[in-house]
Amino acid sequence: MIVILKENPNEKQLQSLIDWLRDKNITIHESEGTSHRILGLVGDTSALDMDIISALDIVEEVKRVQEPYKDANRKFHPEDTVIPVGNTQIGGGTLTLMAGPCSVETEEQILTVARAVKAAGATMLRGGAFKPRTSPYAFQGLGEEGLRLLSLAKRETGLPIVTELMDLAQLPLFGDVDVIQVGARNMQNFNLLRELGRQEKPVMIKRGMSATYEEWLMSAEYVMSGGNRNVILCERGIRTFETYTRNALDISAIPVLKKLTHLPVIMDPSHAAGKSALVPALAAASVAGGADGLIIEVHNDPAHALCDGSQSLRPEAFAGLAGKLIGLHSFMQSQEG
Ligand code: PEP
Ligand code: MN
Repeated sequence: MIVILKENPNEKQLQSLIDWLRDKNITIHESEGTSHRILGLVGDTSALDMDIISALDIVEEVKRVQEPYKDANRKFHPEDTVIPVGNTQIGGGTLTLMAGPCSVETEEQILTVARAVKAAGATMLRGGAFKPRTSPYAFQGLGEEGLRLLSLAKRETGLPIVTELMDLAQLPLFGDVDVIQVGARNMQNFNLLRELGRQEKPVMIKRGMSATYEEWLMSAEYVMSGGNRNVILCERGIRTFETYTRNALDISAIPVLKKLTHLPVIMDPSHAAGKSALVPALAAASVAGGADGLIIEVHNDPAHALCDGSQSLRPEAFAGLAGKLIGLHSFMQSQEG
């Protein structure tokens, strides 16, 4: 349920409404709409009498929220969420460009790629240290050493880092990580999500390969209901009958999520396409469609990459693409309103 307050509500009456709701075990999330303050009520609101609340002097309108996600719901929080990360931010009109290799392999590899993507305009460095691989015989990532190398690259370039956490036992190692990535395969690992809700670092949740928007938003809700409001959603392609591409990038996710939620939306054309030649068009479509940013795999030697080489751009190709995306984003912003 949401309660939309009249402009400049009497603070004493507002406090007694809040106390009365809290007595009924309702949690209240206040947010600012464009002209009105909004109270989002979470808990068992079925017993609340809407008419009594509507009749209060300070109340403009009361609405039931049908969707099962509350904190992630735009009705609860009309303004876009903007997440500060290092010296940049995700959302709020910034084009976030996360770029880097699928996996951290060597010091030379991560430093070379980090310097190149930074020079090209990337705002964050990606790189997997713990890798969820389909085969147990495939390269599983450098683990703790990979995180150390990411920190080194962060110190040298100033780029904040985003990397995947696969297991809660890894969390103590993530002190220097700026954004924790939850992989597609872990989107519904509810214990993991709950625990990430108890800490403060931003969490980027990749869409499960067959997850609906509602399931995905419920995963965000797991993190947010624990108190961590810094959640980012990442569309990385869904499974369809098509085999030419690795996955199908769901461009519809952008306008749908922009309507349903206030959380920033990042697109991953690399894992969707599975082929580097398709990445520029999907990236451009994502920016034109209103995404808050992209996560793109870049490798200095894709032919010898230990993971996802076929979908990785060379640094020069990323530089050309990033320039176009930045230009396209400015153009789209100039057309707004
Ligand atoms: C990745 O980002 O390298 C990755 C494994 O992504 P996903 O979880 O989307 O497959
Ligand atoms: Mn990858």
